[in-house]
Amino acid sequence: MSKKLVILGGGESGIGSAVLGVKQGYNVFLSDSGLLSQKVKKELNHLGVRFEERGHDMNSILQADLVMKSPGIPDHIDLIQKIRSSGIKIVSEIEFASQYTKATLVGITGSNGKTTTTLLTHYLLEQSGINVGIAGNIGYSFARQVAETNRDVYVLEISSFQLDDIYSFQPEVAVITNITPDHLDRYENSFSKYVASKMRIIENQSPNQFLVFNAEDPVLIDALNKSKSEVKTISFGFEKPKNDGVYSADDQIIIQQDNSQTMIQTTQFQLQGRHNLLNAMAAVTVARLLKVSKDSIRESLMSFKGVPHRLEQFLKIQNVTYVNDSKATNVNAAYYALDSVKSQTVWIAGGVDKGNDYSQLLPLVREKVKAIVCLGVDNKKLIEVFGPVVDVIVETQSINEAVKIAHKIADKKETVLLSPACASFDLFKNYEDRGDQFKQAVRNL
Ligand code: ADP
Repeated sequence: MSKKLVILGGGESGIGSAVLGVKQGYNVFLSDSGLLSQKVKKELNHLGVRFEERGHDMNSILQADLVMKSPGIPDHIDLIQKIRSSGIKIVSEIEFASQYTKATLVGITGSNGKTTTTLLTHYLLEQSGINVGIAGNIGYSFARQVAETNRDVYVLEISSFQLDDIYSFQPEVAVITNITPDHLDRYENSFSKYVASKMRIIENQSPNQFLVFNAEDPVLIDALNKSKSEVKTISFGFEKPKNDGVYSADDQIIIQQDNSQTMIQTTQFQLQGRHNLLNAMAAVTVARLLKVSKDSIRESLMSFKGVPHRLEQFLKIQNVTYVNDSKATNVNAAYYALDSVKSQTVWIAGGVDKGNDYSQLLPLVREKVKAIVCLGVDNKKLIEVFGPVVDVIVETQSINEAVKIAHKIADKKETVLLSPACASFDLFKNYEDRGDQFKQAVRNL
């Protein structure tokens, strides 16, 4: 009799797992506490997969041999606790899908920079002619691609939630971009639990596989020092490493290996900011590990266009530069945005605060921010922290008004920066919606 796979959640990772599950001969049942879209239902019917919506039938679920839990479902809820206590194995989508592919896997995790680094890595590999797929939060799920396409390499963007339910997932190359506080609500407000979750990306790696990590990040270094992993490590950062490693100086990325150096020009790299140079170093390191030539990397670095909503300089009006960094949903991302602007700035910030500690932003705000436009339902904390150091602080709950105010305050050669340091769902559907509305409001000026 075929094994029973229960899939919790009918988003892209759930549907992708259904496609792969059917292909692998599982008897699949999909359960979602919310409503499923017509498109999803049609696909499930077409696959012959049984499903339910608006609730979970525990009897059916507890008959599973294996449960695939979508990353959006938190661990502490009753449903998951019951499944765990009945002894049924729960896996994440990357764990499930990775069992059915022989492709070389590159897994990229971190608190910030995952999407940018994943897209750039994929671009460097693809441009060099490698048959490479991209998955994670981007595009089609990994599981669907494993079922439907045949790639030699996959570049995977991996959240900590995906790592929470791995058992044997083993990337050939893992990348950790950085670890700073985020999503602590899902980790019992414990930073060390969140760090431990990110570090799981290396837990199954063997001594001949690789971890590419950010040498500038003290949390990451500390976690690595405590780790028993024997994986080969390659660091990247701004300082020349004592041994092998990758660093950046004088508009070049320098790969130092076995007493020799490979240098790659970055003068025409289009992404702004030190953080993007860190992301580029990580991507270049992976590309070199997969034997991409130096010339191919250099050319691709020049033609890579960046990613919408991440420090996106999209318009100049009356010599004021407008930057959309709506994806900056935590303090560290906003830090790098403020760090990267070269001029005086009107900063549009605020939204849903995830327990932010803004103090690390104070020096940059003092130096560069002439006014703050607070765009959130509750702006108390922003006003408390930044009131004493910024002359002008304005509150609004309308993006159109926020843009009009910023436009009035900004002078020639200055910047208007939307980099909220907060989640978006008090006033917007998601960060894309916030960024799109911002860009539209600027275009309407
Ligand atoms: P993620 O997928 O991890 O959320 P993104 O590439 O989507 O990362 O970027 C999210 C936000 O973080 C953007 O505001 C971006 O400008 C900023 N960012 C990108 N890379 C880094 C980095 N290495 N360190 C800090 N912030 C970064």
